[in-house]
Amino acid sequence: MKLLKTIPDKMKVLNLYDINDLRLDIKDTPKLEKNAVLINIKYCGICSSDIERVFQNGTYHFPTIIGHEFGGIIVGVNDGDENLLGKKVAVFPLLPCFECDACKKEEYAQCKSYNYFGSRCDGGFSEYLVVPKWNLVFNDNLDYKLLALCEPSAVALHAIKRINIENNSKVFVMGSGTIGLLIALFLKEKGHKVYVGARKQANIDFIKDLGLNPFDTNNVLDELENHTDNNGFKYIFEVIGSNESLNTCLTCASNFSQIVIVGNPKSDINLPKDLYWKILRKQISLTGTWNSSYTSNVNDWKDALKHMEDNQNLFKRLISHTFKIDDYKQAFSLLKDSKEFKTKVMLEVSEVDEKR
Ligand SMILES: [Zn+2]
Ligand SMILES: [Zn+2]
Repeated sequence: MKLLKTIPDKMKVLNLYDINDLRLDIKDTPKLEKNAVLINIKYCGICSSDIERVFQNGTYHFPTIIGHEFGGIIVGVNDGDENLLGKKVAVFPLLPCFECDACKKEEYAQCKSYNYFGSRCDGGFSEYLVVPKWNLVFNDNLDYKLLALCEPSAVALHAIKRINIENNSKVFVMGSGTIGLLIALFLKEKGHKVYVGARKQANIDFIKDLGLNPFDTNNVLDELENHTDNNGFKYIFEVIGSNESLNTCLTCASNFSQIVIVGNPKSDINLPKDLYWKILRKQISLTGTWNSSYTSNVNDWKDALKHMEDNQNLFKRLISHTFKIDDYKQAFSLLKDSKEFKTKVMLEVSEVDEKR
């Protein structure tokens, strides 16, 4: 084994012991395995699914180190992999079985028995982590925060690729959280006119600031008239996962509209009969999307990094708050309770020595 620097025996982690019981722990630094590298994690983003894990649903077993959106640097390699030492990486957090039918078709997001950093096994809120080489996405040009933003970006790009959108279209993105805004920015980059649904003034202001068009969902019918002459949108992304949001999307759908369902549902989703009828009469298509593609041909991760490289300052604006890992309580309560405006919140897991 070759090391970039001396690796301490112990490391800081955020361990989830039970619902509502997240602790800053000290653990043994993991030992390198075959076909893997040891990475020193610099930044890890807090996903809305992490908030649900911590405060509502828990993880598959306790304790689990949570976190699946992370970037870092390779600090330990096996003999023969010396060329990887010191490389900066993002990590595809899904660990497929490589044996089921889906895996044989490289449809890893549909694997029947997978592992997952940060939910099924220990993840990214950890100073060090052993990661199979297969899961590494290399990029030395982006800083660690943007590498940590690669996971939601890949999910957003994947959602866009689920439908074919004609050039110069008007597209409606329902939801102004991180994934919604990422979808909107990628669509704008492709030349579409993008409307982002939001209700709060701070979100509406931020949408404008990013060069996108706000769609005030307090006044859906007025906005539909103003922006579409009551024709509705042909392309829609639902990025919240609530009854109300899906209802708004169906209300805003044109004839032959295509709606991509992105948001994870918080509870059962029910439709009023009138809106259900709309799906039939307007021949609306509903398309699901899940995770990202990570194959030899289609790799949403590499695509996402390429897009981010060209627009680093724009994408960085989606990271509204960073906290040191020691201040994790503040970060999690900001996301859970506070009415304060935020987009992506990240933790600095290890000291970032070089400002790059
Ligand atoms: Zn996530
Ligand atoms: Zn599989």
